[in-house]
Amino acid sequence: MDYAKKIKELKEEKNGVILVHNYQRGEVQDIGDYIGDSLGLSQQARDTDAEMIVFCGVKFMAETAKILSPEKKVLIPREDAGCPMANMITPEDVLEMRKKYPKAKVVSYVNTNADVKAVSDVCCTSANAVKVVENIESDEIIFVPDRNLGSYVKRFVDKDIILWDGFCYVHDSIKKEEVLQAKKNLPGAPLLVHPECTPEVIDIADEVLSTSGMIEFAKKSPAKKFLIGTEEGILYGLKKQNPEKEFYTAGTPKICSNMKLTRLEDVYAALKDEKYEIILPEDIISASKKALEAMLKYV
Ligand code: SF4
Repeated sequence: MDYAKKIKELKEEKNGVILVHNYQRGEVQDIGDYIGDSLGLSQQARDTDAEMIVFCGVKFMAETAKILSPEKKVLIPREDAGCPMANMITPEDVLEMRKKYPKAKVVSYVNTNADVKAVSDVCCTSANAVKVVENIESDEIIFVPDRNLGSYVKRFVDKDIILWDGFCYVHDSIKKEEVLQAKKNLPGAPLLVHPECTPEVIDIADEVLSTSGMIEFAKKSPAKKFLIGTEEGILYGLKKQNPEKEFYTAGTPKICSNMKLTRLEDVYAALKDEKYEIILPEDIISASKKALEAMLKYV
């Protein structure tokens, strides 16, 4: 079956839009109406006139789209596409931390499930985490769930930041030694890494950027070759958008198996059978929306 053609037909028939995260398979990126990072895509979902959103990513991303557009039908093609890092913390964990540090504000990375956002004071992205922590009215912060992003923020902000011990297994597996070797093999190429990487990898990077920050940087930079320290799916888009430039992974390619679950046949089935719909309780939607909207106050 020509899935790409079928998907296009169904999408038009059902007034749908396909949002695709930068880490998805190349063939899925090719059929996306928008490609981007989790929050950027959720904002596209909110602003589109389409009634049906097919979110090719992991569950917390589709949930964020639903939180920002509760009136739309949001579908995730693979019900089993979760994020192991988001699953490292529960709302009960957050409430426990709140009891332990009653004066602290809870800042949660957007890579959390909706029920965790709902018990947070404010959300942040990898691009605005420093600003959010800096500007929130408290000197004591509980930062969840990514210890690496949290300790990156600590470098810039003179506040008491209590870290949750979560991590992204993909970024955490990028090792300093392989990055140093990659730098040796490609002298002069700027090394761009994601702040979910370990502190020792961040220490040797030229730029620490979110995925959309990397895409922006690569477009504008006069450099011809780049070393990329994040999930390998982003290289597909970088190469496509900058055919005259070369992109290499900093060490062996690191793959998020959850991100790679979605195939074209899943996107087709999602549109055809209108599955798997993201359903969230109203109280979770309104509380997590508050935390997401609070973020805008601090950036
Ligand atoms: S790359 Fe990391 S943070 Fe993103 S979905 Fe995979 S495990 Fe989660």
